[in-house]
Amino acid sequence: MLTSSSKKIVIKLGSSTVVDKKGRFKREWVDSLVKDIKKYKENKDVVLVSSGAIALGLGYLKIKKKKIKLEMSQAIASVGQIHLAGEFQKIFDKHKFNIGQILITPDDTEQRRRALNVRRTFENLFKLKAIPIVNENDTTATSEIKYGDNDRLAARVAQIIGADTLIIFSDVEGLYDKSKKKKILIRKVTDINKSIYNLADKNKNLYGSGGMVTKLDAAKICINSGCNMYIANGKYKNPIKNMIENKIYTCFEAKISTLDARKKWIISSLTSNAKIYIDNGAAKALIDGKSLLPSGITKVSGKFNKGENILIVNSQEENLARGLSSFSSEEI
Ligand code: GLU
Repeated sequence: MLTSSSKKIVIKLGSSTVVDKKGRFKREWVDSLVKDIKKYKENKDVVLVSSGAIALGLGYLKIKKKKIKLEMSQAIASVGQIHLAGEFQKIFDKHKFNIGQILITPDDTEQRRRALNVRRTFENLFKLKAIPIVNENDTTATSEIKYGDNDRLAARVAQIIGADTLIIFSDVEGLYDKSKKKKILIRKVTDINKSIYNLADKNKNLYGSGGMVTKLDAAKICINSGCNMYIANGKYKNPIKNMIENKIYTCFEAKISTLDARKKWIISSLTSNAKIYIDNGAAKALIDGKSLLPSGITKVSGKFNKGENILIVNSQEENLARGLSSFSSEEI
């Protein structure tokens, strides 16, 4: 289950889980979450994706939420984000955790080169034992290039960093089947089809731009990339402990393992023109499932950075393999 086997966890917090109706940061709740993270973290990498910049900005600036134009909400988010980060920092400091802030736009996750860069930053934050705290960069994202909801953003982050678990804390316990007299919490979903979408409540909460539909979209991304996704209630304190002890949540079960997903991602990536040429001995070793050693490399063509997707060919230019290079072309 959840904590024992998972190694990389993304936790998504909706606006209404971190900001109350009066636009104030929910310090006690977040404190209880951080306590839970401390308790269950062990050797896991944890990422927080937190909404709440606009909600906190509205509260801080004492603006009542009406229809706010995008340009204005960008400015409000800019005020709110700095407070959001400050609030997180105080709490994580208290529990002796380092944190780092990452604000991203869809370009950062949808463009391969940028996604690789984003992944590298996450990996380095993990090396520094810092918990990345992510939000959309609301101040620069325009409506056409905006995620708008952090559910799908969190799923893409989970996919890029190869997380095995995404937990979305929301103001609901999970996905309900309301077609019967008594509503039933669906505990496990293995296929996100039309009938699952039909169960989605179209209502949204006070601040959030997401809803059940965007959560299902997020679940689709997750389960196809080897990541189990959970929707659980973030209304009560110690949300992770509650999840584990009470087992009240909906789990969307991954269809493939993260390893297979990584291989799929490597294979389906756009062809790069970077190539590594290897000799026959190295070719045989690769085919036998062994590693590529530097002595087997005869030539490098094209320029690439560390972590980029490259093609491995033999002297007759036959494609043998594809992989992510641990070195840049220059280093090789
Ligand atoms: N990025 C927005 C914020 O921080 C929230 C988006 C969402 O509702 O998920 O206010």
